[in-house]
Amino acid sequence: NGGANDPKNLRVKLVLLGDSGVGKSCIVLRFVRGQFDPTSKVTIGASFLSQTIALQDSTTVKFEIWDTAGQERYAALAPLYYRGAAVAIIAYDITSPESFHKAQYWVKELQKHGSPDIVMALVGNKADLNEQREVQTQDGIDYAEKNGMFFIETSAKTADNINQLFEEIAKRLPRPTP
Ligand code: GDP
Ligand code: MG
Repeated sequence: NGGANDPKNLRVKLVLLGDSGVGKSCIVLRFVRGQFDPTSKVTIGASFLSQTIALQDSTTVKFEIWDTAGQERYAALAPLYYRGAAVAIIAYDITSPESFHKAQYWVKELQKHGSPDIVMALVGNKADLNEQREVQTQDGIDYAEKNGMFFIETSAKTADNINQLFEEIAKRLPRPTP
């Protein structure tokens, strides 16, 4: 029927959380536009983008993606941002242990205040910078497993695992009963 409760055509709000500079906006732009702009130093002003993907079972998922314009710096604003989100991508930078700790803060925040059935994905971005890695893959895996989250390492720069990230999220979404 095309409405919000059509189990064949889901429409979900997706938010991204994580330290400034970990690559949240770049992940979104890579997924939605297939682009990476290394010169964009600040988050692009446009804060809302959508992208639909088709799954093998012929269902579609339309992600309504809310990207912050830097509000991640203001913890008090976060609840306004993630309210009603069915999906949260919590991202860190594999070269930055501080960003990994901040990601854990956001996971706890969402566990306390997010929608009870929210699908959370923990994303270690900038996987192309493996020589500068300071967060081990296994630490991401372990933390995600303990918290019932999906985990993946991505590179918005090379596009590595970006589509896989959104496909795995789509597969994990609870389906409304028709
Ligand atoms: P945000 O603040 O989390 O939205 O981060 P941005 O998307 O604005 O990216 C911050 C910086 O990291 C920019 O200079 C990007 O070019 C760079 N960046 C983002 N993703 C990657 C990546 O996968 N690999 C590398 N090497 N740099 C990235
Ligand atoms: Mg940004």
